[in-house]
Amino acid sequence: MPELPEVETIVRNLRAPCVGQRIERATVKWKRHVAMPGAAQFIRRIAGQTVLGITRRGKYLVFQLSEDVLLIHLKMSGDLTVVSAATPPDKHAHTVFHFGNGHELRFSDTRKFGRVYLARRADDVTGSLGPEPLDDSFTAQSLAYILQSRRRALKPLLLDQTVIAGVGNIYADESLHRARLHPLRLSHTLAAAEARALWRSLRYTLNQAIRNQGSSIDRVYRQGQHQYHFRAYDRAGQPCPACGAAIRRIVVGGRGTHYCPHCQRL
Ligand SMILES: [Zn+2]
Repeated sequence: MPELPEVETIVRNLRAPCVGQRIERATVKWKRHVAMPGAAQFIRRIAGQTVLGITRRGKYLVFQLSEDVLLIHLKMSGDLTVVSAATPPDKHAHTVFHFGNGHELRFSDTRKFGRVYLARRADDVTGSLGPEPLDDSFTAQSLAYILQSRRRALKPLLLDQTVIAGVGNIYADESLHRARLHPLRLSHTLAAAEARALWRSLRYTLNQAIRNQGSSIDRVYRQGQHQYHFRAYDRAGQPCPACGAAIRRIVVGGRGTHYCPHCQRL
């Protein structure tokens, strides 16, 4: 699933072909792709709206339209492409936005977990999300407060979108490795220096990944280079870049979790 760096990269790449375009109409071939409002209302309301800008909130793409806000969550297999309307149809493009300039934004989604939303305000959909880890307002003190108040293991805490937005399995493992913190360490037991190290590593890891246009670990998202810089994620049995010990894989809360047993002691 695309995480913050991948979604950020997609957003940046969609701005040029989408911003300023008028959505003449939308086609929804699989109604459940539309999470809000109903598909018929979605199609009726979006017609004629212009894309004013595109931003990201957590793992959501947020399209500011002239009247409403269009949000898209890619989930497991979602892919967004802008192509000429003459391009042969894609049978997995369940939702298509037809622009006035003869191009269309296709939301292709083989596994159908992705969702689109049309709301008055982005908060109607993203209101429960935690802070953006790369925002200036997300300080070392804000993370320290979260860690102290939550008494949970670090890995599931970082994955909880209501605690911090945008971090998924890859960047949780990578950030914990860089901060030398065990994924099962309980959040409220971190000393101030450890909380600060986690804050620094989270932001460093996410920024580096954005610079590398995210990570390509599946067949859908192909533009990233960050997979060549993994320290722990998906490297079970391979040497830790810091100490040479073999990276270990465990399962935490149902998620494969990679860490160095030497650098990240419990
Ligand atoms: Zn190590």
